[in-house]
Amino acid sequence: MYDIVATPKRTKEIITRHGFSFKKSLGQNFLIDGNILTAIVAAAELDKTKGVLEIGPGIGALTQRLTTEAGKVTAVELDQRLIPILQEVLEGEEHVRVVHGDVLKLDLKELFEQQFSDVSGVSVVANLPYYVTTPILMKLLEERLPLEHIVVMIQKEVAQRMAAKPGGKDYGSLSVAVQYYCETSIVCHVPHTVFIPQPNVDSAVIKLSLRSKPAVDVQDERMFFRIVQASFAQRRKTLANNLTVVVGKDRREALNELLHRLDIEPSRRGETLSLEEFGRLTEGLQNTGWLSSPLS
Ligand code: SAM
Repeated sequence: MYDIVATPKRTKEIITRHGFSFKKSLGQNFLIDGNILTAIVAAAELDKTKGVLEIGPGIGALTQRLTTEAGKVTAVELDQRLIPILQEVLEGEEHVRVVHGDVLKLDLKELFEQQFSDVSGVSVVANLPYYVTTPILMKLLEERLPLEHIVVMIQKEVAQRMAAKPGGKDYGSLSVAVQYYCETSIVCHVPHTVFIPQPNVDSAVIKLSLRSKPAVDVQDERMFFRIVQASFAQRRKTLANNLTVVVGKDRREALNELLHRLDIEPSRRGETLSLEEFGRLTEGLQNTGWLSSPLS
């Protein structure tokens, strides 16, 4: 194994020797703090029976750590220029595979079958490129990949929105979407000074632990998410006002009655509803048959 990469000196030496220049458009901010790497890896609860998918290994600082803790690591990197650097840094490591590709375009189900058929569980561990945080995480969740945990460094505000509970300004459709699939916890906040180059925003490490089944039991998942979207469409409007847009003005009275029957006060705002209440609302609206045309 090559010398530990996650120090400012080592990182600068590697990028200078390879003539590497950072691409802001690829979200390239490399971690240079060993303590943060320790916190990320510890949160993932790894052992030698586990597999890890790393997204965006960069020059391999986190990858090096992951290979010492997990049984198998597959790291997907989009930037071709980093592949020879990763090969150098990870030389001699048998249980790591570097894949050149865009994680948003890869067939991850196939990759899991090829790479992780012989491990006892797989987690995603990464310092994500911030410009595609939400698409990457939603792809991992919506494809129902057999994951245990997702431990990722992301922009602090996005982490707060994902982990937010009902009632605050951070709680929105992203919170509901993530919490539908996962339990969430913020592992630590991370200042911008621990990266080269330093990003303009602060960061946080978030841990998403996949639920064995979604947080609420709904017949039609698509409708659940459409109702959630509609409820947050205009945050300052009441729930009844937002939902009137989708059920039709002429059903306003009937909508109020339905909400009362469901024990949800029509004057509440979407941001106060729990996942369970959104589930109840979905089932109630679905039974009316009002939504098939306006939402389809
Ligand atoms: N893991 C390294 C670290 O912690 O120092 C680098 C993290 S850096 C924030 C994000 C990495 O993701 C970069 O190496 C970038 O090239 C890569 N990347 C950007 N978009 C990607 C994509 N769509 N698929 C795979 N990797 C991507």
